[in-house]
Amino acid sequence: MNFLFKNDRESVSNTSELDKHNMKTDDARSKNTRKLADARGKYKYNYTHIPSIAMLDKLPWKEYPSMAWLSLVAEEVINTIINTLITVIDTAIAKWRNRKLPRKNLTTRTQPSNAKHLNYADKQTIPNILINAIRFLILEAITKPAIVPILKIIGLSIFGNFLNWILKLIFKAHPKSDPKKDVASLQEYNELFTEIQLPEIANYFEEDEVFAYMRVAGYNPLTIERVDKLEDKFPVTEAQYQEVMGNDDSLVAAGEEGRLYLADYKILSGATNGTFPETQKYSYAPLALFAVPKNSDSLMRPVAIQCAQNPLDAPIVTPKSDGYAWLFAKTIVQIADANFQEALSHLGRTHLFVGRFAIAIHRQLPDCHPLSLLLCPHFQGTLNINNLAQKSLIAPGGDVDKLLSSTIDTVRALVEADLQNYSFNEAMLPKQLEKRGVDDTEKLPVYPYRDDALLIWNGIHQWVSDYLNIHYKSDEDVQNDTYLQNWATEAVAYDGARVYDFGEKYGRIETLNYLIDATTLIIFTCSAQHAAVNFPQKGIMSYAPAAPLAGYQPVSILKGEVTEQDYLNLLPPLKQAEEQLNILQLLGSVYYTKLGYYSDNYFSESSVKTALEKFQANLLDIEKTIVQRNYNRPKYEYLLPSKIPQSINI
Ligand code: MN
Repeated sequence: MNFLFKNDRESVSNTSELDKHNMKTDDARSKNTRKLADARGKYKYNYTHIPSIAMLDKLPWKEYPSMAWLSLVAEEVINTIINTLITVIDTAIAKWRNRKLPRKNLTTRTQPSNAKHLNYADKQTIPNILINAIRFLILEAITKPAIVPILKIIGLSIFGNFLNWILKLIFKAHPKSDPKKDVASLQEYNELFTEIQLPEIANYFEEDEVFAYMRVAGYNPLTIERVDKLEDKFPVTEAQYQEVMGNDDSLVAAGEEGRLYLADYKILSGATNGTFPETQKYSYAPLALFAVPKNSDSLMRPVAIQCAQNPLDAPIVTPKSDGYAWLFAKTIVQIADANFQEALSHLGRTHLFVGRFAIAIHRQLPDCHPLSLLLCPHFQGTLNINNLAQKSLIAPGGDVDKLLSSTIDTVRALVEADLQNYSFNEAMLPKQLEKRGVDDTEKLPVYPYRDDALLIWNGIHQWVSDYLNIHYKSDEDVQNDTYLQNWATEAVAYDGARVYDFGEKYGRIETLNYLIDATTLIIFTCSAQHAAVNFPQKGIMSYAPAAPLAGYQPVSILKGEVTEQDYLNLLPPLKQAEEQLNILQLLGSVYYTKLGYYSDNYFSESSVKTALEKFQANLLDIEKTIVQRNYNRPKYEYLLPSKIPQSINI
């Protein structure tokens, strides 16, 4: 790879020589070049924020967030603060009254019961008027127009730290803040939701169907792969398979018929267990096997789980296993999946993946360049949110350090290694699905992410194709566009954006078709792909037992009899669960801008306007199709076009 980058570095300097030559002969070009030189001074790469990944060095003024975005974020922050405040007061009152929290039997939780839908309103201690007064005061204070310039001066990260400090003060007084105290029942997690509504998942997450559904329509519907048979490292027996799937089916037949699917978290193996802020955490690299029942068009079913890559480290557990072993093992898969989701699917493969293109485009394409016009709205807010994340969320001592399984250094190294090997050309959605063997709708009938994502992919592809065909008439037009080629070259360059495997022939774009595919992937990642992994943070992941960000028990527990308390001890302590709720609720709540809706008269040419109207009409049709689909499957709403923002801005 070094060899590749070295060549590219040379080609970068070669093309800029060419530019210098062109500049003398072309006035317009010379004006553009001056503007670009200015942009290059403002948009500089930094490779040490997260070592080796190309990020923005310093946020230019132009990239600061809008008032509307700040208000949206402020409102959500206030909701979480109020939620926490009420929890603190509630718990203090309960303690004062010496009221014992009801201990619920886990086995009864899968049965529907009205008690489970108990909302805060039913047991409210703080009058609504007081809550509204607090919200009004904080909101008004934060959204007063004068605050934006102040924020710009003191910096959003300082403001964020100030809010964190307030939250810490609240937490200090929190009666549930002892991380070493055992949780006695799941009800204690439910009680963290006061002002914020308890998500529905709290009622169903222990069911096997939900566990399987998470793989195809959850917060990380991106790991399963079709397998013909299992490797030696995961020695599920025919007997174990048949005990779950029935005597008329077999592991061998399922493999041959394309009905076996594996979620293998080997990428997480060897990760160092974290201990920050105070408790021992564990990282896992489990394997989970699923099978589509014979002659059926139904959801695949979980068959077996092995909680470590080495079969000597962890026994194979099945739904038929005794006691709490199965729930314990499923939870370990959820933990691994949540770590994979946050570090790789979300941070690495959307936020950081896209951020690099955003920097390169400002440095290489003039504002009036057709590709720049098309792409820039899809980069709105991305450099700002990535900048904020690297200063707080993914900094040592930040939320990732606190809440995820591994040490912060491990997480950062994992993100780096993954992004370095994450091929742009193989990330195209149809290719991704084919590569994992999940593209066949007959073999794997229920896969809502795949089905909805393909609709959006095709819609974006059509729009991009219509748009670029207006500006480029042939492959030669593409090859002769020096700006475009410089951009492509910088995208892969070592002293550029360091995107792995972008372009045809090392950072060159030779055909219009490739340009359409590549642009589609960038817009798809900015919009739909990010929405698919970002928004389940609220509603699924904000409820820690359904998707714990870390485990707090070793896998070796599975070698003995697993009790209910073992299971509860595996889950995050309440204080951690509350921090998980606060941050993920916020990140999963901010819907700013809508896919396909650019600002009024953003595109001036009538042919582009016509193409855009076609795209918008197409998105409305897709919306209808997904709404229809949701009548015949458990709801999957993360890819409804109306819920997909244009860009990664949260
Ligand atoms: Mn995000």
